[in-house]
Amino acid sequence: MNGVSDSATPPAFDRTTFDCPHCHALAEQVWLNAYAQPVANPAGIPLRIAGEGLEQLSQNPQFPPAVREQKVAYWNRVNAGEVFLDRWAPVETDWLVAGLELSVCRNCMGMAVWLGGRMVHP
Ligand SMILES: [Zn+2]
Repeated sequence: MNGVSDSATPPAFDRTTFDCPHCHALAEQVWLNAYAQPVANPAGIPLRIAGEGLEQLSQNPQFPPAVREQKVAYWNRVNAGEVFLDRWAPVETDWLVAGLELSVCRNCMGMAVWLGGRMVHP
């Protein structure tokens, strides 16, 4: 959040346009609610593929090379701690995550996470 204090239009919960914390452009932001569903991983804990598992995935002949590249790029972003939108299987849930909102920059697609009306990421 370096520079937010001297930003002309700092990120704020009551704005649809602010200086993006990712690309730093004054840009329109789309606000999103978050909904929850239990993790689908059979182990019952969040799925992460890293290290040797990611190496195996990158060479898995079950997937065409383009799909493998896409999957590896996805896990590299997740493993780096990024928070981003990704198309996944449709879900049906009525569990709203109250008090948590997301804002997405229309300029760079960078996402911010807000808890209790305060930006906590990035
Ligand atoms: Zn941006």
